[in-house]
Amino acid sequence: MDKGTVKKRVVGVDISLDATSYAIVDVRGNILAKDSFPTEDYPEIGAFITALSDGITNLIEANGGMELIRSVGISAPSSNFRLGSIVNSPNFPWKGVIPLSALLRDRLGLAVAVANNSHVVALAEHAFGCAHGMRDFIVITLGSGLGSCIFTEGGVKLGSEGYAGEIGHTCVEHDGRLCGCGNKGCLEAYTATKGIIRTAREVMAESGETTQMRRVPKLTPKVIAQLCEEGDAMAIEVFRRTGEHLGLGLANYASVIDPEAIIFTGGITRAGKWLLDPAQKAFEEHVFHNIQGKVKFLTSDLDEGERNILGASVLAWEVKEYSLFIES
Ligand SMILES: [Zn+2]
Repeated sequence: MDKGTVKKRVVGVDISLDATSYAIVDVRGNILAKDSFPTEDYPEIGAFITALSDGITNLIEANGGMELIRSVGISAPSSNFRLGSIVNSPNFPWKGVIPLSALLRDRLGLAVAVANNSHVVALAEHAFGCAHGMRDFIVITLGSGLGSCIFTEGGVKLGSEGYAGEIGHTCVEHDGRLCGCGNKGCLEAYTATKGIIRTAREVMAESGETTQMRRVPKLTPKVIAQLCEEGDAMAIEVFRRTGEHLGLGLANYASVIDPEAIIFTGGITRAGKWLLDPAQKAFEEHVFHNIQGKVKFLTSDLDEGERNILGASVLAWEVKEYSLFIES
């Protein structure tokens, strides 16, 4: 770059449905300064971009100035790294294709990369977490949906259109439950939030046994996991069935990819052994025999408040520097 200046800081951004957080991060992954605002305050994309670019600019100016910043990385659900855009998000108020990286680059004059949260988690786990040093692994994010990323031979597998890794929408039950994507029998329809609650209702409908699940004001995966801890047999059965579908789906996935590990993140994975033990059992029953017993099941131990910002900072280092005056 000009006059040999080495820029040693990037900005990492994490956009989720409730909050948008952004931070200045150094090359070692130290968060030097951080701020955030509620995402839902900006249902219109133009106002959101203004709030985000103003927030980032203010943070940078208060912490050493623009000359030190190399680039920006963003984690956002439903986004496509190849397009630098959020694409047809089912949950954000901004519909259609939102060219986030171009919009923000024009405001900040910095290179901006965008990737979905599973892609970003994979980068964070590889740089700073339990996948450090691994060349082949899979990330599974279980929450309102099932997100996934394939990290293979040292990098993220994107696919021709940038949508590789959609294991949530592979079929685990022929003619099974209707999924939000329009297909039937998808893994996500059994293992994400709505699917787990549906399984709970099925388990309760099948039997007259007592269970605290019938008494709680609002049934959620978190509540069901707490009831498992209290020894509620029907709650345990809900996660056993969920784990069985998850393990089967992951076995198909692993037989194709041959990963060293599967790394679990997201709220539902806090159910821990109630979900992961039956998942691992089903996994070993179905996975290709030569990799049986060899794929590690790991749970992310990075700080959830920082993980996506750290991953977004890794993403920022991967893009070329941008300048209005230099052909990049
Ligand atoms: Zn689906």
